[in-house]
Amino acid sequence: MAVPTLHVVATPIGNLSDLTPRALETLRTVDAICAEDTRRTGQLLSHFGLSTPLLALHEHNEEAIAARIVTRLQQGQSLALVCDAGTPLVSDPGYRLVRAARAAGIRVSPVPGACAAIAALSVAGLPSDRFVFEGFLPARPSARREHLRTLVSEPRTLVFYESSHRIAESLADLVAVFGAQRPAAIARELTKLFETVLDGQLAALLAQVEADENQRKGEFVVMVQGATADADARLAEGRRVHALLKDHLPPSTAARLAAEITGAPRKALYGG
Ligand code: SAM
Repeated sequence: MAVPTLHVVATPIGNLSDLTPRALETLRTVDAICAEDTRRTGQLLSHFGLSTPLLALHEHNEEAIAARIVTRLQQGQSLALVCDAGTPLVSDPGYRLVRAARAAGIRVSPVPGACAAIAALSVAGLPSDRFVFEGFLPARPSARREHLRTLVSEPRTLVFYESSHRIAESLADLVAVFGAQRPAAIARELTKLFETVLDGQLAALLAQVEADENQRKGEFVVMVQGATADADARLAEGRRVHALLKDHLPPSTAARLAAEITGAPRKALYGG
């Protein structure tokens, strides 16, 4: 008898032909599939003519349901874990279940496939030997800018997920905090009909997205090149000058002057 296994299965991020043959076979043969949204996964299964039973496992019930799923695995069943699209656990539920299964000594095995972040990096033309996956930025503008400020000196390429609701706002904040000229790329609707990959400096990308309503539709991966030694030195100098000025001037004036004097992005120095 096969060893009871929790198979963590990647599903397509758009084009259904990206479901791998091994994923298809796994989803066909397991006893049940734990799915983030059983309706959406049901549609995927019916497209491939599968009728494997589904179990709902989402952010809100994961902790509670993980124990029940682990019991089924301990009783000898094999199960699959999927999310709505792409790789489970990547900005998606699943890590609590995986942790619980591993803690119980259950075999957990990946069936790799699509992941929007990796697909986007593979076509962006930005340095990709080392990168930082940031997932979704905070929704609140002040929290978002605050978070971006902590990343301004990061030398590795930054990878963000973004939705159509916030793409323009988030790009505007990226321009404000990282500066207009930081190289970046936006991958939209990958593997789908309206797939678009734009690259260029942040301010030019923002202008393109603002000018064309279609460029604000769909799902996005935004990638920003890491800080260079030059940009980092400007920022350090900007912070030094700002620290000197802010005891004598209103903080926002101090930030504006420090940015003008040193070339550091103003919002990387002071809130807003
Ligand atoms: N687990 C998924 C993965 O492996 O990529 C990510 C799930 S997360 C909830 C959804 C986000 O992924 C979207 O808001 C978008 O930022 C990104 N995304 C998913 N599919 C995409 C696609 N086809 N093109 C661009 N971005 C996509």
